[in-house]
Amino acid sequence: MSRQALDELKQQIPLLDYLQAHDWHSIRPLSRGRLMGLCPLHADHKPSFLVDPHKNLFYCYGCARGGDVIRFAELYHQVKFSQALSLLRQWRGLAPVLHEAASFYSMQLHRHGGAVAYLYERGIRSPELIENMRIGYAPGGCLRAWLMQLGYSLQTLRESGLVNAVGYDAYVRRIVFPLEENLYGRSLSTSAPPHRFLPGVKGGLYSWDQARLYPEVILVEGLFDYAALRQAGFLNVTCSMGTNLNARQFRQLCDGPRTVYLAFDADTNGSGQQAAQSLVSRLAEHGVKVRTVALPDGHDPNSFFVQGGDAGQFQSLLEAAQ
Ligand SMILES: [Zn+2]
Repeated sequence: MSRQALDELKQQIPLLDYLQAHDWHSIRPLSRGRLMGLCPLHADHKPSFLVDPHKNLFYCYGCARGGDVIRFAELYHQVKFSQALSLLRQWRGLAPVLHEAASFYSMQLHRHGGAVAYLYERGIRSPELIENMRIGYAPGGCLRAWLMQLGYSLQTLRESGLVNAVGYDAYVRRIVFPLEENLYGRSLSTSAPPHRFLPGVKGGLYSWDQARLYPEVILVEGLFDYAALRQAGFLNVTCSMGTNLNARQFRQLCDGPRTVYLAFDADTNGSGQQAAQSLVSRLAEHGVKVRTVALPDGHDPNSFFVQGGDAGQFQSLLEAAQ
């Protein structure tokens, strides 16, 4: 990549935008428009991370690292220079097309009775919740034409993973949940793998900006669990989309004093419980209080509500959590 192309990329991605999209908050303003906040690169307890939005540079007085947005991406995602460039290019280029795809899937949901019926079966009935979470449906076979008609090139669609190498829609008969930088698709067909993400990063905890405001946070592993709890009136809930948290999700849970209520599946093979146990000890090492919610055997938070559990009963489980 030429010097000029690097400069262009840096111009197109202001450091502050990129930091904020990765949960960085300024804690106090300094002179000449500079900002100070906690360092996202090390376990920082007093603000040591200085950002100059005009020069597009950062410096941390705690871990003594600094540089431009590319250097930040390298350190933050722990990747080499060339991978940092491709992550940044992807971040810059794919957000609009993912947004369009999510809008298209959201329109499709109401045209497909089977998809709405599936949501009902999983206990998701509130139109406001479906709207807020922008839940959609990918019937398959019509996204590519729609996006190309909007002017997206086949190459962009392939790079995003929305269209596969041979040119077909990647998501077919899937309920789709938009994430910050990805789309999660849950298959309605039993012959396809149930869970899919587009290539690229899974991103941070779901709806973390809202959940982080509460001193007690419920962490679930699936978006259907999240939806069931939201619908039951719990606002302090977030979702890791799987039992293995990525580094960013882990840092988010540790970003302030709080108690985390872990409500992973009580599955029979025990892999969810093992993941929960290891997460409990890692969080405890970082000073986060954790309680494990004991769901009835074979249940996840979604099935708990689908099979008649109510908010009061779930509240009792939270209070009994150890
Ligand atoms: Zn630092």
